[in-house]
Amino acid sequence: MVTPLPVLDTDPDPSFAELLAARPHLEMHAFDGLVMEDVPLARIAEVAGTPTWVYSAGALRRRARALKAALDGAGLRASVHYAVKANSNLAVLRVLAAEGLGADVVSEGELRAARAAGIPASTIVFSGVGKTERELRLALAEDILQINIESAEEAGMLSALAASLGRTARVALRVNPDVDARTHAKITTGKSENKFGVAIDDAPALYARLATLPGIEPVGVATHIGSQITSGMAAYRAAYACLAELVQALRGAGLPVKHVDCGGGLGIPYRDEPAPLPEALAGAIKTTLGPLGLPVMLEPGRWIAGPAGVLLASVVLQKQGAARRFLVLDAAMNDLVRPAMYEAWHGILPVSPVAAASPLTPADVVGPVCETGDTFARGRALPSLTPGALVAFLDAGAYGAAMSSTYNMRPLAAEVLVDGDRFAVVRDRQGFDEMLAGQRQPAWLGNPQP
Ligand SMILES: *Cc1c(COP(=O)(O)O)cnc(C)c1O
Repeated sequence: MVTPLPVLDTDPDPSFAELLAARPHLEMHAFDGLVMEDVPLARIAEVAGTPTWVYSAGALRRRARALKAALDGAGLRASVHYAVKANSNLAVLRVLAAEGLGADVVSEGELRAARAAGIPASTIVFSGVGKTERELRLALAEDILQINIESAEEAGMLSALAASLGRTARVALRVNPDVDARTHAKITTGKSENKFGVAIDDAPALYARLATLPGIEPVGVATHIGSQITSGMAAYRAAYACLAELVQALRGAGLPVKHVDCGGGLGIPYRDEPAPLPEALAGAIKTTLGPLGLPVMLEPGRWIAGPAGVLLASVVLQKQGAARRFLVLDAAMNDLVRPAMYEAWHGILPVSPVAAASPLTPADVVGPVCETGDTFARGRALPSLTPGALVAFLDAGAYGAAMSSTYNMRPLAAEVLVDGDRFAVVRDRQGFDEMLAGQRQPAWLGNPQP
């Protein structure tokens, strides 16, 4: 049997300068090194330690406004509901709430976080394929804007619950348009084999049934075809065309449709891949759904929060292996799981201006966790770095802290918000006592031996 040769990626990585040029909230200063807005990252590491997530309030605001401007520019009546799962830090949510964004939540925890951050219930959408009765009860009690139903079974559950509570749930039907968003298989959600939504062919009958169920008011249709979509607008257009046709059929049957929920998924360039701008998404919505004359909703997560954050880490040591140089960091896959989970590429910048200008040689950048998968990058051009040197992982503002765990009994990292020349720790690093706090010893195990 012939073993195929590995495909060599000959496309050189973008330079530090190229990475920075595309991220206006970050700059390399000759004296202060890598700076976010007006705060040197080295200063944050001094105060908060590492690993630490650092978010730029300015970048969050700028991105929220750019997205809204693109929708306005296309003449759409649109509301933006930030997908809380991308980054659920309360300070981040508050910055976005102040920009007038609503929320898209997928759990009781996210609904509570959104409310705690002051996001009005009247702007919150609840998505997800397995909302529990307890979660639906809370959504009804809060009287949130909309619950996106993903199955006939869920519709039945919600109807019974709402009727028993004397409430009416505003419901959108999430449709699975069976289009391939051509993103990573683990974050594709709009194919017929995925667990999400109802088949487009079943949608008209189910929508008609929703209109007859007690406690339910059908208000629209929804879709969400995947995340980190960078392959152009074809998949979006196909999905939205499918929704437009469905809405026309529903209207033809005399059923009320008040708005269309377009989901999220807009991708960002992590490396230098071409990624669509919000103007392109707005255009795709306009050409497909525009003729319906209905307000639309968007649920972006990654596009808003991803580029706004970095993960700040320290070098534990530099190890010369038999075949390669390893940079071992104090951050690991339990902090930033995307490389291990999705083979994701993240820019990695030295924070010191001297290091950033030093000669580059290939290094494997790894964490200390006992898994080979705990590898952030292979053969990455980086300077020689001494223990304690700082590095920043770019575009770690979405699906970073939100996906982290305590694997290997490593505490959850601290989180910091930068706003102009100010910064604040917005989540303390988890303490070791806190990590053990919920554990209880059954009496029959006796007392631990000292
Ligand atoms: C995850 C998710 C989003 C956000 O996806 P992004 O890729 O972060 O924009 C929006 N809507 C739903 C239903 C989701 O599950």
